[in-house]
Amino acid sequence: MPTFVYMTRCDGCGHCVDICPSDIMHIDKTYRRAYNIEPNMCWECYSCVKACPQNAIDVRGYADFAPLGHSVRVQRDEEKGTIAWKIKFRNGAEKNFLSPITTKPWGTADPKLADVPGPSQEMRDSQLLYSEPKYIRLDDGGLHTLKSNGLTMKKGVYY
Ligand code: SF4
Ligand code: SF4
Repeated sequence: MPTFVYMTRCDGCGHCVDICPSDIMHIDKTYRRAYNIEPNMCWECYSCVKACPQNAIDVRGYADFAPLGHSVRVQRDEEKGTIAWKIKFRNGAEKNFLSPITTKPWGTADPKLADVPGPSQEMRDSQLLYSEPKYIRLDDGGLHTLKSNGLTMKKGVYY
């Protein structure tokens, strides 16, 4: 199951929109609340769940820690530097996990990718990279984009 947003908790801050690597968390223009526009494209990476300051996003837990029919809620406590996962099972039993989180202020961990030097020829020829240069088009003119692949954005997928 992909993400599900509780409208009564969400305040439309947009953190989930910013962080979603699949670009599927969007803000409803009328209600100013977030929702998942393409549930079948959700990676269930939990990034938005962990980023939400309002604890407004529910998501399915992986089968290795929670069987079907449960709910997963997440609570960040930035002062304590912890993130708590509450798993509620179908029979009402609960399990709680507590882990440390990074305490860097929001956004400060983003690397300035434009300042990062490109890989040297030696690095690109390394066996460790194997076919990477070919697939990211280092050798034939830049990265894959929608345009370079002759594709257009699907209707309805926009901020
Ligand atoms: S779980 Fe990951 S992929 Fe799914 S909506 Fe949240 S951030 Fe996006
Ligand atoms: S991060 Fe949480 S509160 Fe902010 S828009 Fe997303 S669901 Fe709503």
